[in-house]
Amino acid sequence: MVFKYRYTIIVAADSVVKPEIGPIRRSVETTATHEAEAKGSKMALLINEDCTACDACRPVCPNEAIAVGEPAYVINPLRCTECVGAEDEPQCKVACPADCIVANPDFVESQEILLAKYESLHT
Ligand code: SF4
Ligand code: SF4
Repeated sequence: MVFKYRYTIIVAADSVVKPEIGPIRRSVETTATHEAEAKGSKMALLINEDCTACDACRPVCPNEAIAVGEPAYVINPLRCTECVGAEDEPQCKVACPADCIVANPDFVESQEILLAKYESLHT
């Protein structure tokens, strides 16, 4: 399997980082994601290159974590709680017609951490 994903992560409101993910690192990250998911871990989500920029996800995010990026939309992992605190399931994934929103292996977080993040965003 060949991985060719490239994605953008907003790490702060005014700071945009655009790491280019090579096939080897992407393979490692995908494995880490699957292992974390298998253990029931929660994590922020990211949008991969299959995004069609349809804008279906952005308005449904309870944390205003999704923004227009180039070429794909982006999720700020510091604001994404996987909808913990607001909804039973990630609303962006439910809304996305391209099935391009996946777990972000760099942000594996517990339910408690995600809930604390949500509460910090809404106080
Ligand atoms: S999972 Fe929820 S909080 Fe995270 S980006 Fe999607 S809609 Fe926003
Ligand atoms: S709903 Fe999916 S395809 Fe549409 S902008 Fe969001 S991530 Fe991209």
